[in-house]
Amino acid sequence: MYINLLFKEKQTLMINIAIDGPSGAGKSYLARQVATRLGYIYVDTGALYRAIGLHMLDRGIDPSDREKVVAELENVTVSFVHKDGEQHVLLNSADVNSLIRTPEVSMAASAVSAVPQVRAFLLGLQKDIAAKENIVMDGRDIGTVILPDAQVKIFLIASDEARAKRRFLELTEKGTVTTLEEVQADMARRDRNDSTRDVAPAVPAHDAVILDNSDLDREGTVLAALRIIEEKLK
Ligand code: C5P
Repeated sequence: MYINLLFKEKQTLMINIAIDGPSGAGKSYLARQVATRLGYIYVDTGALYRAIGLHMLDRGIDPSDREKVVAELENVTVSFVHKDGEQHVLLNSADVNSLIRTPEVSMAASAVSAVPQVRAFLLGLQKDIAAKENIVMDGRDIGTVILPDAQVKIFLIASDEARAKRRFLELTEKGTVTTLEEVQADMARRDRNDSTRDVAPAVPAHDAVILDNSDLDREGTVLAALRIIEEKLK
């Protein structure tokens, strides 16, 4: 009983900041920066869906074949560790960070993330870390499903053009060969999948603050988010 109370108390003391929004709005940069500046742990939940998408591609399973994806889950373990402020995702014990940022894996992640069993599979992992640490977690359903009690919820949006341009630059900087049109089309498809799926669609929580950064640069976005956080935690 005493231990339970202590645990509960520890849980409520943790600060959870949820940052959701469509792809390419700059959630990961923002979440990482906010976490660094506040001394919290940054949790990138998209990387977990990406790891499962990668696993399915590696096994030759069509990520949109729900039955096969669900059956394959018993051969998957996903976890993460934080080293020097960086999150490393482990897929069946192998660090897959360098393999999960390709456009192919993005589409696979979007497909597997629409499968309720995949979301259930990753739920505990996300809730556990939020109960133990002060975290900034980014994703699509953090404020609505994973951490409905988060003290701060930000839903980050930007115009379609701004998001596609940023993602295009990010990919080409990493050496990925693609075109702006391709990125725009992929993004529109992913947005459609993510916001219209039956489970945990990417929509703002009723108590989320909407932050539109179409006309803000990266630092402007961080400062705007820090102001929202300060206000909410007052
Ligand atoms: O955020 P990121 O682009 O890395 O996410 C990859 C895909 O994983 C997204 O398109 C989305 O379909 C899915 N995702 C999700 N829920 C989250 C995070 C990501 O469904 N919390």
